[in-house]
Amino acid sequence: MVYKYAPAVLLLSLWLGSKGYGQARYDLLLQGGHVIDPKNGISAVRDVAVKDGRIAAVAPHLDRKDALKTVSAAGLYVTPGLVDIHAHVYTGTGERASYAGDNSVYPDGFTFRVGVTTVADAGGSGWRNFEDFKQRVIDRSKTRVLAFLNIVGHGMRGAKFENDLADMEAAAAAEMAKRYPGLIVGFKTAHYAGPEWTPVEHAVEAGTMAGIPVMVDFGTDHPERPLADLVTKKLRPGDIYTHCYSGLRHELDDSGHVNPGMIEGRKRGVIFDVGHGGGSFAWRIAVPAIRQGFLPDSISTDLHIGSMNTGMKDMLNVMDKFLAMGLSLDDVIVRSTWNPAREIHHEELGNLSVGSPADIAVLRLETGRFGFTDMYGARMDGRRKLTCELTVHNGRVVYDLNGMSRPVWTTLPPGYTQVGDAAWDALNPKPVRRAPAKKQ
Ligand SMILES: [Zn+2]
Repeated sequence: MVYKYAPAVLLLSLWLGSKGYGQARYDLLLQGGHVIDPKNGISAVRDVAVKDGRIAAVAPHLDRKDALKTVSAAGLYVTPGLVDIHAHVYTGTGERASYAGDNSVYPDGFTFRVGVTTVADAGGSGWRNFEDFKQRVIDRSKTRVLAFLNIVGHGMRGAKFENDLADMEAAAAAEMAKRYPGLIVGFKTAHYAGPEWTPVEHAVEAGTMAGIPVMVDFGTDHPERPLADLVTKKLRPGDIYTHCYSGLRHELDDSGHVNPGMIEGRKRGVIFDVGHGGGSFAWRIAVPAIRQGFLPDSISTDLHIGSMNTGMKDMLNVMDKFLAMGLSLDDVIVRSTWNPAREIHHEELGNLSVGSPADIAVLRLETGRFGFTDMYGARMDGRRKLTCELTVHNGRVVYDLNGMSRPVWTTLPPGYTQVGDAAWDALNPKPVRRAPAKKQ
């Protein structure tokens, strides 16, 4: 009886030997795309190979015979997975009108489809409810979710909490951050309506104790605490001023020039982040600032229910706006990948170095007639627009807009079922078959 199966066994072993199931040199190979990897100074056509969830090789030519799965990225841009350091994803608590509740969104519905593989929640939770956020969202999301911890112990739950100076304890916040290093990437102060510096000072104090940056949404404008003092005196190098094109706190002075304090603050090493949101990005601020050479360090969304369907929409839309203002694609990509990764001290992210987690966005740059709207509903026209074709997270395809990684159905056997392989595919992998237990 054995001979009857010999050819099949031989073929199988040949197949295993050549394709090397589980032994292929690469799990996934993206071939022929224009790679933009600012950390490594690459902006050229390259092949990118992935193995065991990490970048295995980037080179002008890699052999498809070495890969379990090859996908052609010709005509497309291949970039590190996008890193959005200002989003609001602490949802599911049922609390109304709260960024620790209904104002926030589950990340997976908004990330992979636009090439984002990492988000940082910008202060939804404080030290009192971070662990609730963690078990509710961080631990259950496919997206990599990190957090800026609000200096307010209760987090971003509305004015009653956010203006409570008694609930801004630096030591308690720092202690929580030290319990979750790498997960809590910074502190946030936001929406403060009073004239005091207390929220900023306590956030910086916590940041110094935990060795991580502070992100500031500077709240209500007050002459007692001018923006120039914030970025030239109060913040440390590496701290982040978000909403930098809002115009709500004299980002442009009365003569239409970039606030000299911001230029001075940048020289000191303070970081300027977009944080578009529902009410923090105006063309009449951004366009003159960019013309004067004041580019953002990082591009971020400030994603929440009030921005997701208005001017902001998604990460690629915010990036498109900077293309429309004349930045090159390379200039936009560095501000959406490597810069934000460094700002949150995650230097393994936002790049395609060999050994880095294989987070990759495959983007199409369309040309045509497009319109982009700001916080006031004013439009700017543009000729370029990014679309995400494919997203890879930790080495596996997590989004594929046009099925570029999938076989055409007519090429498959009748009665086909799941066709992918779990080594590279998180969408439709074949069920894992366990070997039947041997009878003793
Ligand atoms: Zn925000």
